[in-house]
Amino acid sequence: MKNGESKYAYTKTTAWEQFTAPQLKHAMAFAEGYKTFLNEAKTEREAVHLIAQAAKRAKKTYVVTREKTAAVFTPGKTPIRNGLRIVIAHLDSPRLDLKQVPLYQDSDSHLALFETHYYGGIKKFHWVVIPLALHGVIVKKDGTTIPLRLGEDPSDPVFSVPDLLPHLSHEVQDTKKIDEAIKAESLDIVIGSIPARGDFKEKIKAALLEKLHTMYGISEQDFLSAELEAVPVFQARDVGFDRSLVGGYGQDDRISVYAALQAVCDVRNPTHAAITLFVDKEEIGSEGNTSAQTPGLLRSVIKQLDPKADVDDVLTNSQVISADVQSAVTPNYTDVFELKNAAVLGSGVVMSKFTGHGGKYSANDASAEYVAQIRALLDHEKIPWQTGELGKVDKGGGGTVAKYFSRLGMEVIDLGAPVLSMHSPYEVTSKVDLYSAYLAYQAFLKR
Ligand SMILES: [Zn+2]
Repeated sequence: MKNGESKYAYTKTTAWEQFTAPQLKHAMAFAEGYKTFLNEAKTEREAVHLIAQAAKRAKKTYVVTREKTAAVFTPGKTPIRNGLRIVIAHLDSPRLDLKQVPLYQDSDSHLALFETHYYGGIKKFHWVVIPLALHGVIVKKDGTTIPLRLGEDPSDPVFSVPDLLPHLSHEVQDTKKIDEAIKAESLDIVIGSIPARGDFKEKIKAALLEKLHTMYGISEQDFLSAELEAVPVFQARDVGFDRSLVGGYGQDDRISVYAALQAVCDVRNPTHAAITLFVDKEEIGSEGNTSAQTPGLLRSVIKQLDPKADVDDVLTNSQVISADVQSAVTPNYTDVFELKNAAVLGSGVVMSKFTGHGGKYSANDASAEYVAQIRALLDHEKIPWQTGELGKVDKGGGGTVAKYFSRLGMEVIDLGAPVLSMHSPYEVTSKVDLYSAYLAYQAFLKR
């Protein structure tokens, strides 16, 4: 009997208590590389670039498609018809995308702004009055790509969505519902204020077009074929006196991306072929040719591993971890969580048997047999883990890429770190959960 509990009872302990002292030291060191990754990979394209670099360094084979998805893999000891071990994570995060005709002058306020269209599930009030950086590409008609990354260097200018002062916001904001107080169409970014000298209808806009032409060689029409994303400037930092946590933008799902990438780079002589897939567009429903719904990336990996393999056989025998984050119990809002089944920061990687909403609708629901296998693996390797569910039943819900892989006949389970303030510009995770995720993905890929 321990703490008055039956020896047959399931009790949860934190990863801080489960890890040995040397493991805790590793976990803290592991988070240093992670913070650098978060600061350097604020968009899916930037993440793909870093993934390719890491794969090259580790001498692993990799594939990149359309600059937005990547696979890193290593062959196993058994033929691939016996199945693959796949960890899949997503590279995209909520943000403000620029519209196609973004630039305008607001003559009432004497400012020039960019129009935005938010991407993914955001709470709009999170995105006003914070410093933003612009990342992305402008592709000219002749195919030339102009990369842009402005606002990250301390000497760079930054951008910001203005908000109304409290003295005047009573009627238009304070008395409204919180998700109606800030309108999507008012999430425009201030980009300049100096008027051009000369006979122009809109002088600030004219001056900015001139400036953009000097800086990037572009004209207004080039925005039509650009992908520019406004992301928080915040650098990833330790959170808390004890430095146990990491605060930063885009941790959903780059905490899984980083853990999976390190895992596949470190895995040696796996039994089955070990594959990590990194996909885009999860935050907008996994639609499009760079999303988890496109089988091209996985098929090209299978072809490279064995051109003669029967793809259907390979898939049916494969096992997948959908490496995506889970919500962590949030102080002051514990009412929306069913605490026995909710994940907390610091208790290890979270296994979610199912996702979805309202009666497991639109979910992958992993089989008890597969859950048992993964449970046995994690316990055998002494990796801290916990179970998780996204809030109380019927309080909300959400999905991951798991269902797109399970429908191909593979065993799939969700396993990822818990995140506090998920989908906000400054998400918070625990260093021991990151390290647990890394160990879990590595143990899985090695089988
Ligand atoms: Zn996610």
